[in-house]
Amino acid sequence: RISTRFSTSTTVEELIAPPVEITYTKNLINGHFVDAASGKTFPTYDPRSGEVIAHVAEGNAEDIDRAVSAARKAFDEGPWPKMTAYERSRIMLRFADLIEKHNDEIAALEAWDNGKTYEQAAMLEIPMLARLFRYYAGWADKIHGLTVPADGNYHVQTLHEPIGVAGQIIPWNFPLLMFAWKVGPALACGNTTVLKTAEQTPLSALYVGKLFHEAGLPPGVLNIVSGYGPTAGAALASHMDVDKVAFTGSTGTGKIVLELAARSNLKPVTLELGGKSPFIVCDDADIDKAVEFAHFALFFNQGQCCAAGSRTYVHESVYEEFVAKAKELAMRRVVGDPFKTGVEQGPQIDSEQFKRILKYIRSGIESNATLECGGERFGSKGYFIQPTVFSNVKDDMLIAQDEIFGPVQSILKFKDIDEVIRRANATRYGLTAGVFTKNIDTANTLTRALRAGTVWVNCFNVFDAAVPYGGYKMSGIGREKGIYSLTNYLEVKAVVTPLENPAWL
Ligand code: NAD
Repeated sequence: RISTRFSTSTTVEELIAPPVEITYTKNLINGHFVDAASGKTFPTYDPRSGEVIAHVAEGNAEDIDRAVSAARKAFDEGPWPKMTAYERSRIMLRFADLIEKHNDEIAALEAWDNGKTYEQAAMLEIPMLARLFRYYAGWADKIHGLTVPADGNYHVQTLHEPIGVAGQIIPWNFPLLMFAWKVGPALACGNTTVLKTAEQTPLSALYVGKLFHEAGLPPGVLNIVSGYGPTAGAALASHMDVDKVAFTGSTGTGKIVLELAARSNLKPVTLELGGKSPFIVCDDADIDKAVEFAHFALFFNQGQCCAAGSRTYVHESVYEEFVAKAKELAMRRVVGDPFKTGVEQGPQIDSEQFKRILKYIRSGIESNATLECGGERFGSKGYFIQPTVFSNVKDDMLIAQDEIFGPVQSILKFKDIDEVIRRANATRYGLTAGVFTKNIDTANTLTRALRAGTVWVNCFNVFDAAVPYGGYKMSGIGREKGIYSLTNYLEVKAVVTPLENPAWL
């Protein structure tokens, strides 16, 4: 075993209290916080310690049914789809203002329930949440159809209408950003929605759900149900009164959601699933920059990103230098209490993920990858894992094939571009890719050859509200964010009218 020295600004034993109180733990249905129909609750945990933070209403099929009825009524009879797009947009803008006003409390809640650093939440994610709602508010009054030339004397126009009641199921890694990617476009287009949050992180969505109503959102437009996947999630995906389902999470669950949608009312489905994304460092790359970005591509958010650059392919001529620098950077990573200033890495989300990641690390060691640093838990409490780097990783090792979703970097070696293209594409996933080169021709070859929904060249993890995101192959169906996300929430109606005695005939 290699000994590791990780810098830390605190020990995980001396945790500080997050600066926020928990106010909302019930389901938000028709504008009110209500207990679960069964009266049951479930615990949500602090990943720093494994201690219970709060008990939250446990929604099941009956709660989903109530939430869908509220959303249905709000869509069929309520003001939301009928009000002017400008009014809808103004409510969304007011919500964005309230997010900004409560930035620090929201960030604290997000960090507490998820384990991400408070600084990341407060400085990056919550400002992005406001930005996303402003972006979608901007779309609300710019959605319109076309006038279509048709054979014969017909006037044909297309109307872009809201699809109806959306069912939206989100994961725990970016609870509020996933909230925005789903709820933002759905509401901008005039739909109503039922959102099922992840059981690990139910708190922040309820808090901002309350703010949305303060901003003037009519009751029933946004309903939030906390609960487990096989009960609440499955009930939402298979509900006959839900017109569209959007899901982010694992590929396995994505398949289940697609099946449930098909077996019920054949509602359209968008899926944003897992990845095992290549990060390719060519021989002409700026190595220091590539090392830094490869580190960021993998370790950001404790490695819990579907986009993670989790197969780092490095050209053989710069391989040794790259590995040495990647190891040095990982060993300098500051692990500790996510509420402490300067901490870069908090705990993993829960004990299940923690154990799963450690199992993958063991498999890396057993398959004879070289453990450069890390490999063990950090501290004795909570779900912290040492930043881990493996070199000499081969394509057929489990750590190079499965989505680990943790702070484990795998560095592989390649000789030439054709070979790395073939190897990078030899995966069932196709979510993102990173390319580091100074040669424009190499960059153009790679960006076109890689089968992935996003290719970042000399950068990584750039998530602008306007830029579409989604996967090729088993990484998903459809795109979120940007103009492309609107089509997920719109029906197109062709209206055909005969032209009697048109003036120009
Ligand atoms: P998951 O797919 O099980 O959970 C995601 C969401 O789906 C949660 O809200 C969950 O309650 C719900 N869900 C679970 N089973 C369901 C069902 N039968 N019907 C309807 N909804 C259901 O993911 P997880 O267990 O939280 O994480 C496991 C793995 O998923 C991770 O290790 C990672 O590989 C992947 N993951 C990917 C993303 C992503 O952004 N693509 C996010 C989180 C997790």
